[in-house]
Amino acid sequence: MSAETVLIVGAGTAGRSLALSLRRADFAGDIVLVSDEREVPYDRPPLSKSVVVGEVDAAGVTRPDRAAYAQDRVDLRLGVAVTAVDAAARTAQLSDGSMVTWTALALATGAAPRQLPIAGLDQPGVHRVTRLDEALALRDALVGGPKHLVIIGGGFIGMEVAAAAVKHGHRATVLEAAPEPLSRPLGLEVAERVLAWSRARGVEIRVGTAVEQVLGDGQPTGVRTAAGEELAAAVVVAAIGVAPRLDLARALGCAEAAGGIAVDAGLRTSIPDVYAIGDIAAYPSSYADEPLIRVEHVSVAIGHGQVAATQIARGEGAYDDLPTFWSDQGDVTLNVVGAPRADDTIVWRGDADAPVCTAFYLRAGRLRAALAANDTRTLRAARRLITAGVSPTPEQLADPTVALIELLPG
Ligand SMILES: Cc1cc2nc3c(=O)[nH]c(=O)nc-3n(C[C@H](O)[C@H](O)[C@H](O)COP(=O)(O)OP(=O)(O)OC[C@H]3O[C@@H](n4cnc5c(N)ncnc54)[C@H](O)[C@@H]3O)c2cc1C
Repeated sequence: MSAETVLIVGAGTAGRSLALSLRRADFAGDIVLVSDEREVPYDRPPLSKSVVVGEVDAAGVTRPDRAAYAQDRVDLRLGVAVTAVDAAARTAQLSDGSMVTWTALALATGAAPRQLPIAGLDQPGVHRVTRLDEALALRDALVGGPKHLVIIGGGFIGMEVAAAAVKHGHRATVLEAAPEPLSRPLGLEVAERVLAWSRARGVEIRVGTAVEQVLGDGQPTGVRTAAGEELAAAVVVAAIGVAPRLDLARALGCAEAAGGIAVDAGLRTSIPDVYAIGDIAAYPSSYADEPLIRVEHVSVAIGHGQVAATQIARGEGAYDDLPTFWSDQGDVTLNVVGAPRADDTIVWRGDADAPVCTAFYLRAGRLRAALAANDTRTLRAARRLITAGVSPTPEQLADPTVALIELLPG
């Protein structure tokens, strides 16, 4: 046994990235990667897009295969949870009864589905899509001809499942309790456009419609809304959002911020040699105006894993990448760069009806973020402008004849 052991709790996007970056950073010690899921680590984004409609199977999202972990001498333990950690003794207790002694601990526990007080929500047959096994179960429920899905929740994941289902000939009704779904991450004006594109592609969206009960007894038959209306459905999907899994970090006494675990640019928590990465990490970003932000996106989780690796191996590296994420909603691909805020001023460029367009987010005249819908050319320019700290005028941003790329210095 070597003198150093990195224990990584969670083998999702961030944990996998860290485990597979450590050897590249010349870390020579032991690496233990523990996952409470049984599957070899896989990509999560396709679950709500291509997996639920059978376009991609489990093998298509499992990357890399198990041999890559062996090659990197990563001790991958699947189907095992870390149940307790002790910062003083530097030990961790696992659900299989084993114990791991660590010199560095990385918490990559991600987010788990939010619990809501909806009667019947936990009965078998109510689908979720946060894990591969759940997405495959929904895929199996959708075989055998067109079905009517009722999707509880109009966030990105619910909207993606709806769009994918409609594209494959199903009928999808999204029920959203809030009056303005997606307005928190995107702002009201942009969210309304995104919803309009989904509706134009056949997704039924009912806002301000809280679900009170999932009907059925072991086999859901529909839902009852808070207004007392009953909607029949062949398939009920709960896409009611996720909450970061902070129990281990809290037990350790890690400082918290922005709904997650506070870290510095090296992903270090307030507890020595304990790192937090991915969805749970609240980190400093020069692209945000808040001291610490928490971003639930793949690109951030991958970058956190890479920087935590160089920190653990060599004590160097800082994460400050431009936040980016995408969402496929049927044939509309949304790409967001930067950290948009709901109160930003929006400037549009392009054809919003097609849609091939971009919304720019301005804060006190500064370009802080952009959402591109099927508009990769403008997206590339926006990415470079935001990274360079260049803010064109609203007129320049809106005018498609202005080559934004030429506004960059030198
Ligand atoms: C359906 C879906 C679609 C998405 N689509 C997109 C997208 O299009 N674009 C985008 O940028 N992002 C998307 N995301 C978000 C993205 O997947 C997450 O931000 C990213 O996976 C976060 O990585 P993470 O490692 O922090 O957490 P996760 O990938 O969630 O991994 C955490 C892992 O830790 C495990 N775990 C937790 N506690 C323990 C414990 N005590 N012991 C052992 N294991 C434990 C969990 O079971 C899980 O396997 C999507 C997410 C979902 C669910």
